Amino acid sequence: MSNLKVDSTPIIDGVQPTSGSLTVPGQTVAGQTAAVIVAHELTKTYRMGTMEVHALCGVTFEIQPGEVVSIMGPSGSGKSTLMNILGCLDVPTSGTYILDGEEVSLLRDDKLAVIRNRKVGFVFQSFNLLPRASAIANVELPLRYSGGGNHRKQRAKEALQLVGLGDRMNHRPNEMSGGQQQRVAIARALVNNPAILMADEPTGNLDSHSGKDIMQLLLSLNRDRGTTVIIITHDATIAAQTQRVIRLRDGELEVSA
Ligand code: ADP
Ligand code: MG
Repeated sequence: MSNLKVDSTPIIDGVQPTSGSLTVPGQTVAGQTAAVIVAHELTKTYRMGTMEVHALCGVTFEIQPGEVVSIMGPSGSGKSTLMNILGCLDVPTSGTYILDGEEVSLLRDDKLAVIRNRKVGFVFQSFNLLPRASAIANVELPLRYSGGGNHRKQRAKEALQLVGLGDRMNHRPNEMSGGQQQRVAIARALVNNPAILMADEPTGNLDSHSGKDIMQLLLSLNRDRGTTVIIITHDATIAAQTQRVIRLRDGELEVSA
């Protein structure tokens, strides 16, 4: 939370403070915690030839530091589109997105990539590990892009210890169970110490026992380190373990408690 802008962010035309909140998007009031995510009237329109698909139709919400939030909704409701924007993999067609105090909605690809690498850790349903690389090499990877310095190995080691794999550092993915592979992916997501951890169906490929373990791990990382966690899920039992559920339907927010 070192990059919060206290007074330098211009207020965008038409942006109103969210009701019940004392802050204007992107600004903090002395002594108040700023939202780590401010999404204001986000839209995303995909153009396919002459057709337009309105994947997001004006989505507004905030997520506070240290929250655990799930995003639910039927297939095609815009979950992945929203996740891509929140994770700085894509930009909205219109609207404002402020991540950890920085407005990212208008950034070019190269700037977006820098912010993404610094502020967001991703966990995917299918783990997305490099199959020929050891656990520790997989975890070190994001540090190579961010110039993690001399301490890369040490930091990767600590991240693996944090997820309970201190004794599996030199194993390759095919020498580990699904649950262990997902732990490696979580260590990789954490190694840059991101402001947010985003998980897209993180237990979708796991048996229910390993799925529970992974969910416990995500919740304990939130509890012990204060990491903000956002989980896309179809699973109501997973959503029930999060503090808040954001529901999408046809690109619109259904409920944001
Ligand atoms: P979900 O993840 O909830 O299943 P998506 O965000 O993937 O939903 O998709 C929302 C809508 O946008 C769907 O109608 C989908 O077909 C459309 N869509 C998603 N990505 C693209 C794309 N790259 N090009 C065109 N249409 C897309
Ligand atoms: Mg999807």
